[in-house]
Amino acid sequence: MSMKQTPKNIAIIGSGLVGSLLAIYLKRLGHSITVFDRRPDIRVIEFSGRSINLAMSNRGWKALREVGLEDEIKKIGIPLDKRAMHVIGQPEYFQKYGKEGEAIWSISRGVLNRKMIDLAEKEGVVFRFEQRVWDINLPEAKIYTGETEKSEWQEHQFDIVFGCDGAFSRVRHKMQRRSRFDYSQDFIDVGYKELTIPPNEDGSHKLDKHSFHIWPRGKFMLIAMPNLDGSFTCTLFMPFEGEVSFESITNEAEAKAFFTRYFPNVMQVIDDLLVYFFKNPTSAMVTMKCYPWTYWDKVALVGDSAHAVVPFYGQGMNAGFEDIYELNKIIDRYGDDWELIFRTYEKVRKPNADAIAELSYRNFMEMSSKTANPKFLLQKKIEKHFASKHPDRWIPTYSRVTFSDRPYVDALAIGDAQEAIMRQVMQIPDIESKWDSMEVEQRMLELL
Ligand SMILES: Cc1cc2nc3c(=O)[nH]c(=O)nc-3n(C[C@H](O)[C@H](O)[C@H](O)COP(=O)(O)OP(=O)(O)OC[C@H]3O[C@@H](n4cnc5c(N)ncnc54)[C@H](O)[C@@H]3O)c2cc1C
Repeated sequence: MSMKQTPKNIAIIGSGLVGSLLAIYLKRLGHSITVFDRRPDIRVIEFSGRSINLAMSNRGWKALREVGLEDEIKKIGIPLDKRAMHVIGQPEYFQKYGKEGEAIWSISRGVLNRKMIDLAEKEGVVFRFEQRVWDINLPEAKIYTGETEKSEWQEHQFDIVFGCDGAFSRVRHKMQRRSRFDYSQDFIDVGYKELTIPPNEDGSHKLDKHSFHIWPRGKFMLIAMPNLDGSFTCTLFMPFEGEVSFESITNEAEAKAFFTRYFPNVMQVIDDLLVYFFKNPTSAMVTMKCYPWTYWDKVALVGDSAHAVVPFYGQGMNAGFEDIYELNKIIDRYGDDWELIFRTYEKVRKPNADAIAELSYRNFMEMSSKTANPKFLLQKKIEKHFASKHPDRWIPTYSRVTFSDRPYVDALAIGDAQEAIMRQVMQIPDIESKWDSMEVEQRMLELL
């Protein structure tokens, strides 16, 4: 049985992916919702031309399905059922992601966000763009907006305020000043730059459009995901400093030499490579953790404002959508007791946010330092071989994170247990030559 909700006057700070979905959920419960964003309305400003995409997987879809939006959003996405690996000196090869029918979806961030704002507005959510929130009175749920930090501010009174204002949240910033508020932020030494592969003249894609393309190169890598218009968005991940780094590429000749050496197959098709390499920004990536996420029955953080992760698992938005799904279930259980709702919400979600932060960081380490290690590659080969023979007994961590809705904490714990087994398996004498033998398989079954 679900508990009834007394309508509240709720503010959401941030009309990003998480803020706009949360607005839809809360509006459906009968609350009156105002969303503030410092940006102009992204539906009316001229499109920059660059389309940046992200991967939606099971957890994201589940949250959309709950409010009946899955089918509508799937129309603007492209399913990717495999990785396409581009290794120097080898022909392109494919790795299926999971079982038949399992795929991640490439979706344009801008198109998705505009659509979600449209849908929220249709339901009666009020959006107030170009409204920068500077301060918040936590115990009274008052927010303050204004032109600049020094200008005169307007005060807005609400019953409840949600901070969906991203990794550098202003709402959290205010919570940080309280005693016993834990906070950490860690930047990795790798940055990223987005580039584009335009469509063929007939509008078709230049690479396989149902693949997530990866060019692994040890300390750096290039990835590409398709867009509906036939283009691909590429992301180059590379250290900021060092021998091969963003810092070491200072002019067009150096950029050309870099791409000729490491990405000869793609460099011809990247749009105005040498122009955009210098025009597009190099951005940083951060893991941000904090706790608590809520204040009394008044304020709660949802999405990146509560937990920002590095993007190497493609789970940041998915985790934020899952926050909303779980919060909604808790609301359903506790009705008007917002203090209990918020306390339960942060208790349930915090360990999972920490788990996906850890998994994302490990994936970054794995991609950047281990992919060239023969022992590591052999271990992966053994796991894959075993999983194909015993698909129910060995589900790879990637599948648990991406294609399941079991908690992230479980994916992390089971992944650690599998790793412990593999450490023993790798000790088997002469493992290199008998990696696919019955002996190894038996040993793994025993260890499980
Ligand atoms: C390179 C990269 C690739 C990624 N790929 C994926 C992926 O494949 N899959 C995935 O699930 N996730 C991915 N992510 C993570 C994903 O982008 C984030 O988790 C997601 O955007 C978080 O949404 P959000 O709404 O919480 O915050 P944001 O998207 O940051 O939105 C915050 C909003 O708040 C507004 N705002 C901020 N401060 C104020 C203020 N003071 N007043 C008013 N408004 C304010 C901002 O204008 C913005 O609209 C990726 C991230 C990066 C960096």
